[in-house]
Amino acid sequence: MIDGVELIQKTYSTMKERHEAARKAFGRPLTLTEKILAAHMPLPVDEDGKALVRKKSYANLFPDRVALQDATAQMALLQFMQAGKKEVAVPSTVHCDHLISAQKGAKPDLLRAIDENQEVYDFLQTVSQKYGLGFWKPGAGIIHQVVLENYAFPGGMMIGTDSHTPNAGGLGMVAIGIGGADAVDVMAGFPLNLRWPGVIGVKLTGTLSGFAAAKDVILKLMGILTVKGGTNHIVEFFGPGAASISATGKGTIANMGAEHGATTSVFAYDASMERYLRATNRGAWADLANAHKAELAADPEVYADPSKFYDQVVEIDLSSLDPHLVGPHTPDLAHPVQTMKDTVAKEGWPAEITSALIGSCTNSSYEDVSRAASLADAALKAGLKAKVPFLITPGSETIHLTIQRDGQMATFDKAGGSVLANACGPCIGQWDREDVKKGVKNAIVTSFNRNFRGRQDSNPETLAFIGSPEQVTAMAFSGRLDFDPRRDSIKTPDGKDFKFPAPSGDELPKQGFLVDKDGLIRPPADGSKVSVAVDPKSKRIALLAPFTAWDGKDITGARVLMKAKGKCTTDHISAAGKWLTFRGHLDNIANNTFIGATNAFSDKIGEGKSLLDGSTKSYPDVARGYKAAGVPWIAVGDENYGEGSSREHAAMQPRHLGGKAILVRSFARIHESNLKKQGMLPLTFANPADYDKVKEDDLVDIVGLAALAPGQQLTVKLTHADGTSDSFPVNHTMSGEQIEYFKAGSALNLVAKQQKS
Ligand code: SF4
Repeated sequence: MIDGVELIQKTYSTMKERHEAARKAFGRPLTLTEKILAAHMPLPVDEDGKALVRKKSYANLFPDRVALQDATAQMALLQFMQAGKKEVAVPSTVHCDHLISAQKGAKPDLLRAIDENQEVYDFLQTVSQKYGLGFWKPGAGIIHQVVLENYAFPGGMMIGTDSHTPNAGGLGMVAIGIGGADAVDVMAGFPLNLRWPGVIGVKLTGTLSGFAAAKDVILKLMGILTVKGGTNHIVEFFGPGAASISATGKGTIANMGAEHGATTSVFAYDASMERYLRATNRGAWADLANAHKAELAADPEVYADPSKFYDQVVEIDLSSLDPHLVGPHTPDLAHPVQTMKDTVAKEGWPAEITSALIGSCTNSSYEDVSRAASLADAALKAGLKAKVPFLITPGSETIHLTIQRDGQMATFDKAGGSVLANACGPCIGQWDREDVKKGVKNAIVTSFNRNFRGRQDSNPETLAFIGSPEQVTAMAFSGRLDFDPRRDSIKTPDGKDFKFPAPSGDELPKQGFLVDKDGLIRPPADGSKVSVAVDPKSKRIALLAPFTAWDGKDITGARVLMKAKGKCTTDHISAAGKWLTFRGHLDNIANNTFIGATNAFSDKIGEGKSLLDGSTKSYPDVARGYKAAGVPWIAVGDENYGEGSSREHAAMQPRHLGGKAILVRSFARIHESNLKKQGMLPLTFANPADYDKVKEDDLVDIVGLAALAPGQQLTVKLTHADGTSDSFPVNHTMSGEQIEYFKAGSALNLVAKQQKS
């Protein structure tokens, strides 16, 4: 499998030609987004050569790479094993970052995590070796920082099983966070079916100065776009201000774009990216990008008249940008720092903070750390120490080693800070916090990207605010939520007033990065002899058995396991929280199936009636009873069934527990597609009012399966307990190929079958 510079050469080799074809097909100049997407697909055109893709239609794209984080990689790779492939079709990597909790500091935390998660790591390492994936060990770094340092390239396209995959947009890549099922498709050689996005243009003018940082660009934009404003769009940054921001600063902006709902965010190739590529030992990549500069930016006509080509244009002047804090509980509640004094008083928020945290995948570049350390250094020289716990999470071992050599770590240490493992830690809630009890109202500041209630410390009473690493560092020394380092001073031990100087720091290390040489385990050339480590007694990892193929008959005598009332999201179908531990064990995680769904017959949550004995039990128990007795079942839902996270467990679990069909008023698209992939019948009421006809004690037949064809309705017959019956038509959106998934038992069964023939 080709990788590295050859992979880039391959992508670039057809880029110009594909852009030319796309210009012709669209009949106009192209945005950068359109250029990168067009370079990763054969663009479908009609008889007149006009582009067949348009906003909201779906297109088949072929990404260059896949990256998986340890929590989502488990089920994705268990499924990939079923495809019968010898190796992944595109370069792919696994990153062990989410399962390490922060407690006592980098070393002890890492050792404890390795001990606690050994079976998961062993599985991920051996499955990676068998199928040709790179395996980044626990402690090597956070997925997005490691990708930026090693794999991202201008004009490339990647997918990742994590929401903040867009981080690689800082190096000019279209990088999209997707669910495990889509990752399995791409690793198995299939295209990514992506909704063609609209494009929002963000023009940056001026230059950042003083306390204003790249983070403030995205915090300001969050206030403008809000948490929904980017949905189904790619955000494209341009303008002279964009060129003035470092590549890692661009990464920060692109990373947090996930919070306004954008498909991803992207910057055009420029000198900052060249500097970063060369500093991370990828000079040959920079040479190639330099040779294709015109292809790695939007067409000049787009920049000359942006409102003609972008769906929306936002302008931000970096020269007048104030440092911001966003929060609490949502990232789009943006406050310029100078307004915090009034806002804190007005809202009754605690004026004193209890912790300050910097780092994470969003903000742990050399530049971020250096600028934060410059402030800590100035405060130390004035005799000050951090007033509250000050936690620093480096994004990778490369950053960790480099800041250790260059002294920033020693500065944090002297200031009373604690350097944590190179992992997600507090950012994903892996924070065993002992200083504040659950239920106690308090405020924290972080340079992370999410601040939902309870996200960091599981305490719903914690008010989390997000700011730049510089702002958060200054607040660690002041201990106050309303501290504006440009205006306020801190009393030193000798009674003087200390005011922070403007932060300063190198964009890249003068002596170069100290590269982590041990973090990556490369796969052997031939992994066929590697056996995948799965302890048969493990409660966290279990190999998957293929789902059974369709028996060629109509479904008859099925029971209604569950009829959901109102919202039934993927969280209601497969709850998160403590259940995440079982993400690699389908049978164990299936014990949460539908436990969040509201029973339309009783209004109770998570439980229903077993028609085997009339008892009321939790849905998974009822389903297991039906499965053991050989009784098929269906589930019924209302509008937009399966909205929310794209996790494939919500489709696999009902299938595993013996479900045959999901019949709803309407589906959320990704969930519907996941059901098809798992061989479940996703059906919608042709007449939405027929939802009301379904009764708790019904026997259900689904008739017409032998003639199942695209666009062909099926018939549902309900036999009610009183002997009466109802029949009505139901729709499906399965294509010919997806009908084959159903017949084979799942998409992967079909792939495996084709592989053998
Ligand atoms: S550091 Fe936070 S945002 Fe980044 S990948 Fe980890 S959990 Fe996600």
